Amino acid sequence: MKIAVHGGAGTILPEQLTPELEKNYRAGLERALKSGYEILKNGGSSLDAVQAAVTVLEDDPLFNAGRGAVLTHEGKCEMDAAIMDGATRRAGAVAGIHGIKNPVVLARMVMEKSEHVMLVGKGAEDFARANKLIFKNEEYFLTEQRRQQWLSVKDTDTTLLDHTNKKDEKKFGTVGAVAIDSKGNLAASTSTGGMTNKRWGRVGDTPLIGAGTFADETVAISCTGHGEFYIRRVVAHEISALMRYKNVTLQEACDEVVFNQLQKDGGEGGLIAIDSKGNCTLSFNTPGMYRGTMDAEGNCTTAIYK
Ligand code: ASP
Repeated sequence: MKIAVHGGAGTILPEQLTPELEKNYRAGLERALKSGYEILKNGGSSLDAVQAAVTVLEDDPLFNAGRGAVLTHEGKCEMDAAIMDGATRRAGAVAGIHGIKNPVVLARMVMEKSEHVMLVGKGAEDFARANKLIFKNEEYFLTEQRRQQWLSVKDTDTTLLDHTNKKDEKKFGTVGAVAIDSKGNLAASTSTGGMTNKRWGRVGDTPLIGAGTFADETVAISCTGHGEFYIRRVVAHEISALMRYKNVTLQEACDEVVFNQLQKDGGEGGLIAIDSKGNCTLSFNTPGMYRGTMDAEGNCTTAIYK
């Protein structure tokens, strides 16, 4: 059993983070890892573990998902999330939703309580209400940092890639988790607020099964980065396909996609992946990615920079 999490990739440099902020980011990642690990340790499923880990990160205002999600052009939090069970290939996803405390829980509900894979917007919110999910008002989601980011670009056509105040500085704060449980089953989950100042119902790779989130019998993947590039390369599924059809290792498949395919297109970002043998890769072509892993013995490691 093993679990890995990410809290976004991008131009994350030591000089941008105070020691205190760095400590808080690492503590958030560690809390997420531990919540998933507890489930795995007690014989629980990888599916429950990734949901628990992503829920913790959604509740943490530092990350761009759930509370602390970035703001749209209209100044609202509009969120996307997905979850997938590798053993059964069942999946659930939501896009463009407002007010739901934990989008990942709604994604799981779509998977389990509907016959669909993906619900969007008002329909997804109606489904959440029908299933008695927790809603929160705008103030719950909104942080001062997000408001400042939004104020800096709201009168422009720029869409900002996550938590940064400078337009030329790219960071992606999406959160995600992948895990393998004691039965050898894999699962993946990803959750995001997308991009600051996004408009027109823009949806990135996060909730798209095969693009930002994917799990099967071979590998579980959760991505973070410039979503449009991830969609065009169908990144998460590409890694599984490379492993299954070309018999390459997890590391080779991730290197091919992150450093060759994506980089060639100018697609910045990273991903976390665990394969059926328990190998784990945390790959990114940006200066940093908030990330961490926890193994069967409870060894927990977190890292931010390259
Ligand atoms: N991939 C996400 C999106 O494009 C952004 C991120 O990873 O921060 O919506």
